[in-house]
Amino acid sequence: MTRPLLEVQELTKHFPVGPRTLMGKAQQHLRAVDGVSFNIERGLSLGLVGESGCGKSTCARTIVGLHPATSGSVRYEGTELTTLSRRGWLPYRRKIQMIFQDPYASLDPRQTVAQILDEPLKLFGLGRPRERRLRILSLLEAVGLNPRHVQRYPHEFSGGQRQRIGIARALAGEPDLIVCDEPVSALDVSIQAQIVNLLGELRERFDLAYLFIAHDLAVVRHLCERIAVMYLGRLVEEAPREELFKNPAHPYTKALLSAVPYPDPEVERTRERIVLGGDVPSPLTPPSGCPFHPRCHQVGEVSGDRCSREVPALVHEGQRSRACHLD
Ligand code: SF4
Repeated sequence: MTRPLLEVQELTKHFPVGPRTLMGKAQQHLRAVDGVSFNIERGLSLGLVGESGCGKSTCARTIVGLHPATSGSVRYEGTELTTLSRRGWLPYRRKIQMIFQDPYASLDPRQTVAQILDEPLKLFGLGRPRERRLRILSLLEAVGLNPRHVQRYPHEFSGGQRQRIGIARALAGEPDLIVCDEPVSALDVSIQAQIVNLLGELRERFDLAYLFIAHDLAVVRHLCERIAVMYLGRLVEEAPREELFKNPAHPYTKALLSAVPYPDPEVERTRERIVLGGDVPSPLTPPSGCPFHPRCHQVGEVSGDRCSREVPALVHEGQRSRACHLD
């Protein structure tokens, strides 16, 4: 069996917050990511989904080394990344790239597109100036931008076009894995589909794998073979896309799915809507037992007060896993 491209095991990221003791130790920790595990195979994609504040972006940033991990393991082709120095990270920076939510904030407004795209090529030592110029033009073509606009600045492009520049920058080093941190959520709905389609085309063309972060299941539906659902720093369900959409096993997944519009108007009119009450609780003071129990519509189906007492373990069965006390 071939090894997964990326293996994430029991990854945690806690942030110290609040006043410190006399010894300088934090008295409280925000448990943004709490024991998350998943694999990504080469050329395939995993969608990581959950409401704002569930820890999915922190998870992504910890994987790419923007935050040091508190504990756990991130392996890329078998190499442990969490213990690498800055210099040790360099070859992996090329192979693991990131696309950010806000394309405008992630591009330097003082640089032209040519300069923006030349930066990673120079950093990774990819070609002489003439070769790099040709590569920049082919990157622009690959993401559907006019190569004649190479000397323009980010403010001269629309939001969707700026995200295309961000994608071109991510492609510059010929990565194997791109971590997409809500790359379409700041864009108009009409543009979102174009960017998702582009990412799908690029994946086929360059044999890419994606870790695609989204708060909306509809966005990951067309792009990701597997979907993992996160709640308050933990994975609550992971399954192949078709199975998760056809038969969600965790009450939180069911609630998220019930908010996704259905293409058939007849089904759309009659299907059950599960409205989640309140917001995701603070990871500083998570609820006891199952973190989802204060909002769960199926809590009454579990005998006694097990849901508020006992944290459900993530149980694997075949291709799926779920953290819930329901039978
Ligand atoms: Fe709901 Fe209980 Fe399952 Fe948590 S363990 S999701 S509260 S049924």
